[in-house]
Amino acid sequence: MLNIVIFGAPGSGKGTQSALISSKYGLHHISTGEILRGEIENQTPLGLMAEEYISQGHLVPDQLIIDMFANILDKTANSKGYVFDGFPRTISQAQALDAMLRERQTDVTAVLSLSADEKELIQRLLKRGELAGRKDDNLETIKKRLDVYSEQTEPLKEYYKKKGKLFKIKDGSIDDIFERIAEEIDRLFFQHGK
Ligand code: AMP
Repeated sequence: MLNIVIFGAPGSGKGTQSALISSKYGLHHISTGEILRGEIENQTPLGLMAEEYISQGHLVPDQLIIDMFANILDKTANSKGYVFDGFPRTISQAQALDAMLRERQTDVTAVLSLSADEKELIQRLLKRGELAGRKDDNLETIKKRLDVYSEQTEPLKEYYKKKGKLFKIKDGSIDDIFERIAEEIDRLFFQHGK
């Protein structure tokens, strides 16, 4: 099983690249942000709890996210592999993910880390705010999300680096980035003998 974590700051292109990976390799794409936005739209109890955190640029509490994520993994048990997009975002989520995958006799194959400079990230997110109307894509919330990323999420790079699972993908156009990602995944497929 190939389980890819697509990692990076808000606006680094995780969603775009995850969709491309999932369609090329037939992996199941799980975006915790997308799922949460669906929950909010449907005004579910989880959506109602999450809305405030998201609109302020904070992370939704770990246990809520981990339970939601476990539920999705259970529902997609036949998948031949996953692209995890926006999860894990904290060390405790990463540990929970390790445990969940271990229970399923599998593990995180690789963490592909996207990068972009901060000015570029802010410009992209502001543009997305205009085009897609995401409420959390306004300057104040974007800045908060970038702070939260460097404080709570970026330390995961070290966590995965120690396990030899972190692969940095150089920034570029959408196509360039995808080409670099595909090279990495092809190599991983080869190593996994699939
Ligand atoms: P995203 O679409 O990945 O940018 O996520 C949008 C927002 O959803 C984030 O700013 C968080 O408030 C929340 N969120 C998404 N994934 C997670 C996660 N793994 N842990 C906590 N909060 C999350």
